Amino acid sequence: MPKYLQYLKQTDPQIYAIIKEERDRQHSMLGMIASENFASTTVLATVGSCLTNKYAEGLPGKRYYGGCENVDDVETLAIERCKQLFGCEHANVQPHSGTQANMAVYFSQLKPGETVLAMDLAHGGHLSHGFKLNFSGSLYNFVHYGVKRDTETIDYDQLNALAKEHKPKLIVCGASAYPRQIDFARIAEIAHSHNALTLADIAHVAGLVCTGLHPDPVIVCDFVTSTTHKTLRGPRAGTIMSKKQFAKAVNSSVFPGMQGGPLCHVIAAKAVAFGEALRPEFKQYAQQIIDNCKTLADALLSKGFRLCTGGTDNHMVLVDLRSYNEKLTGNDAENWLHQAGIVVNKNLIPFDPRKANETSGVRIGTPILTTRGMKQDQMVQVADWIDQALSSNGDPKTLAAIKAQVSELCNQFPALGYLQAAE
Ligand SMILES: *Cc1c(COP(=O)(O)O)cnc(C)c1O
Repeated sequence: MPKYLQYLKQTDPQIYAIIKEERDRQHSMLGMIASENFASTTVLATVGSCLTNKYAEGLPGKRYYGGCENVDDVETLAIERCKQLFGCEHANVQPHSGTQANMAVYFSQLKPGETVLAMDLAHGGHLSHGFKLNFSGSLYNFVHYGVKRDTETIDYDQLNALAKEHKPKLIVCGASAYPRQIDFARIAEIAHSHNALTLADIAHVAGLVCTGLHPDPVIVCDFVTSTTHKTLRGPRAGTIMSKKQFAKAVNSSVFPGMQGGPLCHVIAAKAVAFGEALRPEFKQYAQQIIDNCKTLADALLSKGFRLCTGGTDNHMVLVDLRSYNEKLTGNDAENWLHQAGIVVNKNLIPFDPRKANETSGVRIGTPILTTRGMKQDQMVQVADWIDQALSSNGDPKTLAAIKAQVSELCNQFPALGYLQAAE
């Protein structure tokens, strides 16, 4: 057992017991939620460091608190590595999350009530891209583009027509449930022709973008936001990249506009993650995520599942369950797979006739399994288990039998670093 868990066991046994349960859950199940990953031991250790104790409102060299010399160094390094990794002119590494990164960009450019064009949540967009119950949707006038009915790929012509009609000040691109590449250059060109600014939200694909395995928005878009915890495999947080001309506006909209003191321990962990992503091994990792996902897609297709857009270019597949079993909902599939030790999330598919709490689809991603070292052979096995679990109609015996095999596979691919140590 790692020392700090031993310490926790003595000082707060209740929290210790929960963390231990969670560690065991992460180890013994196949995490296939497309937005999740396992951060490295270095990232985990850095998040758990004494940097959490420091207040540092402001930016390196321009703080409102004394004693910031070390956190200045940490944030400067995080900014430099972020700029190097993405090749951007300006970086602000303080946003606490992906949503806050978007909020900061909106606050820097938009007045309440102004018009923004973004991808529809029901077609794969994100809450912070104008969902009614999110601050974005209540504060601004969001108009939404979507995907084409036949190909289920982004309807760039509709995007162009909506931009022409509504004259948005900002066009947001990027998605949470879209299995294909996004043509950022094309969207930026459309935005340019209608005098709109562009924000590319690469929360999901950041790890593929920084390795050159997905089209890069940094040169063509005015703003790029990202989470750092999805394919990028860092701590739970956000970051903003922008053109130099927006540096001041972005910085002051993060602080004092939207946040108080930054999370110095998390900023240090972002620096660690950027550093890890700059290494050649990370490109191999990102390529393996994609290769694994393609194999998973082919294996699922061969079992009779229909995949939205017919396949994948990235780290996720969006399964349309209706052709497999008309009565099967995403909710049932999520529950049954969970009982089989496979963790996925129900997800709306484009033009879904079911509601968001039921859905006709599941979203399945390969980042965690790839971090664990699994390759194509394991993906074929996982597709087989998914087929067995869903064709059993939730039969408890079948699900338990799969779960036992899943657990065995997981033991062959441990990846929780120093948390792994046995009791
Ligand atoms: C995950 C995600 C976010 C936000 O992430 P949080 O850190 O959960 O706030 C923003 N945009 C997109 C497209 C995402 O997928």
